[in-house]
Amino acid sequence: MTALTATRDGVAPGAPSIWTAAHNADRRRPRSRQTELGASDTVCSRRAAYIVTGAARTDVHEGRAAILGTYLHAGMLEDARKEFGWQVERTVVGDGVRGHVDAVQLDQATAARLPKAMRPLVPADVVTVEDVKTKSLRKWDYVLRYGATKAELRQVYLYAAILRKHGFADLRGQKALARLGPIDVQRIRFRFVCRDNGAEHVQEFAFDELEASAALFWVDRVLEVEDPEELPRDHDGPGLAAVCDYCPWLTACWGQAGPGIPVQTLLVKDDDDRAQALADYVRGHEQETAGKAVKKLARAKIDQTKAGTYGPNSLSWSGGNPVKRPDEQAMVDLYEDAGVLVPMAPDVNAMVAFLKGEGIAVPMRDTGAKTARSINVSPART
Ligand code: SF4
Repeated sequence: MTALTATRDGVAPGAPSIWTAAHNADRRRPRSRQTELGASDTVCSRRAAYIVTGAARTDVHEGRAAILGTYLHAGMLEDARKEFGWQVERTVVGDGVRGHVDAVQLDQATAARLPKAMRPLVPADVVTVEDVKTKSLRKWDYVLRYGATKAELRQVYLYAAILRKHGFADLRGQKALARLGPIDVQRIRFRFVCRDNGAEHVQEFAFDELEASAALFWVDRVLEVEDPEELPRDHDGPGLAAVCDYCPWLTACWGQAGPGIPVQTLLVKDDDDRAQALADYVRGHEQETAGKAVKKLARAKIDQTKAGTYGPNSLSWSGGNPVKRPDEQAMVDLYEDAGVLVPMAPDVNAMVAFLKGEGIAVPMRDTGAKTARSINVSPART
């Protein structure tokens, strides 16, 4: 394995970026090398298939935010273990999946079957499986509004389903837990922590058999395939979905287009594909237009509403301040008072207007830049 190196301008040799160490360590973590499907790999079925079929990674990404998330995650879970006595980072294995449950808060009856030192300080009323997710401020509104994503739900349901069916894995360091046998998980909890300001948001709900079966079925489908390309891409690709931007199988999945050309162009092979893409574009445009109309009406209605919380949403206002710009005449006066020459530049707008007014062609030069390409779609003439 070739170690990643990081360089920074103006830094003496021998003082490498700390990210060199972080990336190399990250590449050696079991999660980064595995061929067995971890429950946290359930974000995309094709990506999961690349893992279980042992496909070589085609892309290396920096992923600094993900590494920072790993550090925070590990620190918080370790403190929860020490302070609350929760079972953290325990391994579960079963149904083709191997994963690490962030935290399990045992109930009184289950905890009583463990040695005293392994019992939680405060038992839960029912066994609760917890998943801790760190999120950036940019995604925080989404977290508050919608909670866990489909992939996050799938992941935690897999952990909970394996615990209910097989219990904790029989491994060194968790033998006493494995001896408990199947664990009667009754509640799922997501704990979201904002990486930028430490805000915390908890989402809890009862374990749902149907959701768990759907998660296990999803894994079965992945395990059955011989070629990952038999499974659909669950995301829209680089530039459109962050999960693809950082996917280690990005090139294997999408191929490569020419410089500056979106790889999604490779999905279009013939005129039927072109017709379908245009129909999708028109459909999206119609939805966008309808959505804008809904927003405009709502915005007009609340124009005089005071900031506050109304139902599930909070309203605040920003802007409305006087717009300031440099006062040219005051600056000229200041220059003159100081005896400094006032810079004179040709007034291009006035010159263009004058030439046009006189009917003289405005001389143009090539800037080397290109205008943005815009798309126009209209009904085909029959
Ligand atoms: S590039 Fe995107 S669609 Fe393809 S395997 Fe990776 S995550 Fe899935």
